[in-house]
Order: sequence, then C-alpha cells, then structure tokens
Amino acid sequence: VNLRGILLDMDGVLYNEDAPIPGAVEAIRWLESRKVPFLFVTNTSSRGRDALAAKLRGFGIEGELARIHTPCVAASAWLAAHAEGPVALFVREAARAEFTRLPLVSDHATAACGAVVIGDLGDAWSYEMLNRAFRLLQYHPNAKLIALGMTRYWQASGGLCLDVGPYVAALEYATGRAAMVFGKPEREFFQAAAGQLGLPAQEILMVGDDARMDVGGAQAAGMRGALVETGKYRPEDLEGEVAPDSVIGSIADLPEWWERNAFSGAAGTSPTP
Ligand SMILES: [Mg+2]
Repeated sequence: VNLRGILLDMDGVLYNEDAPIPGAVEAIRWLESRKVPFLFVTNTSSRGRDALAAKLRGFGIEGELARIHTPCVAASAWLAAHAEGPVALFVREAARAEFTRLPLVSDHATAACGAVVIGDLGDAWSYEMLNRAFRLLQYHPNAKLIALGMTRYWQASGGLCLDVGPYVAALEYATGRAAMVFGKPEREFFQAAAGQLGLPAQEILMVGDDARMDVGGAQAAGMRGALVETGKYRPEDLEGEVAPDSVIGSIADLPEWWERNAFSGAAGTSPTP
C-alpha cells in the first residue's frame, strides 16, 4: 500500500515550547509544494485553534483552522450534540473559545452539570480545583467525565511535565467512573482525522514524538506510525510495547523519508544503507 497523506503531531515535532525545530518550516513547505494532504493533529488542550494557528504563523507556517485537529474541537462537537446539562470547564483561558457555544456552569459552582471537561491546566492546577472537579462528578452521578486527551507528560524546557492524563486518572480513581477520551490515542480521533483527509487509514502516516499516543494510537487505527527523535522522545521509547513503523531523526528528514518510502509499498522497512 502506498502512503498518500500525513498527520503531524505539533508539540515536539514542529516545535518545543516556543522554539521551532530546525527544518520544520521547510518540511511543511515541501509537503505543500508536493501537494501531500496533511493535517496537524495535536492533543494540546491549553489553547484553541486560533492560538495554535497564530503560534504556527509565528514560525512561518500557515496553519488554517480547518487543518488543525484537536481534542477541544472533537469534545465541543460531541457535547453540543449530547451534553445533558451545562458544562464545567477545567481548561485554560486560551482554550475556552472552542467551547463558547455550550452552556457553562460558573467557575466556582458545584451546581448540577452535564459534563466535567478536563484539559491541560499545567501549573494552574490546584488541590482546590481538582477537588471541585471531583465534587461535581461525585454529586452529579450522570455528569460525564470528559478528557481532552490522555497524554501522560510533555517536554518543557525545565524537564518533563505532567499533562492531562494523570489528572483524569486521579478523578477516575476517586469516582470509579471511566472518562470519555477525546484525542490521541483514541481510535475515533484518528478516524475523524482520516475522514477529514479523505483517505483510508492504511494510506496515512502519523508522525509524532510520543510512541504510545502518536505511533501506537495511529497503528491501532490502521495507520502507519513514525516516531521522531525530538521533543519528548527518549531512546527507551523504542523498548516499550509500541514498535514504530519507522524512526525518523526529526521533521527535517521527513521529505527525504517520504521520497524513499511512501511509494515503495513497504514503508515499514528501513532504507538500505
Ligand atoms: Mg508531541
């Protein structure tokens, strides 16, 4: 099977915090010039697509909103159709724009709500906030626990940092309720991205720096998964349960990799030395 389209993780693939990864801009321009269909697929829930697109533009990458697939977008669409009652948001200010069409409970209320949405609050998390989320769920047994991805950790300049997943896991443990997860590594999230590309899963390559979320999630959805050795990548990642179809030094090497492997029908094999 030939590869025809690409899903690109953002954080750790295109940039680390505010620093673009060398070659990212050129790689995206190359994809555009070759007319390879691609989407940005990120679990970032700390900001909305407007802010993500602005960040990309700052690096010289044109990121139209329709090309950015995020848990906030997927969850907001689901909640608009299915939430039974107002929604309690635990997301950063910059991500609220994606949820404005939903009825929301006020920030300190423990009133009845239909869903508790947990995103990446980073160092804004406090015991009080986590406990408020717990009480909302505990007092309202029908409220859904919505996770904006289940990423475990990410690479910041000061070191690895807890992401959304550990907080959701704490709430699941406390309430005995399972979260509905919107984002990587959920199969539906990858399938929605494939639908947006208009390609069957097996013709899509996912490129990411998280072996479990990006590569494992994409493979479970029927895609090929390539791990880049940037961002949160550590050599030990190759000894885990996920075996990437390919390991690529960085996004800068993607054009050459694509030329060599996309149309060979054997994208999983390493190039001959
Ligand atoms: Mg990443």
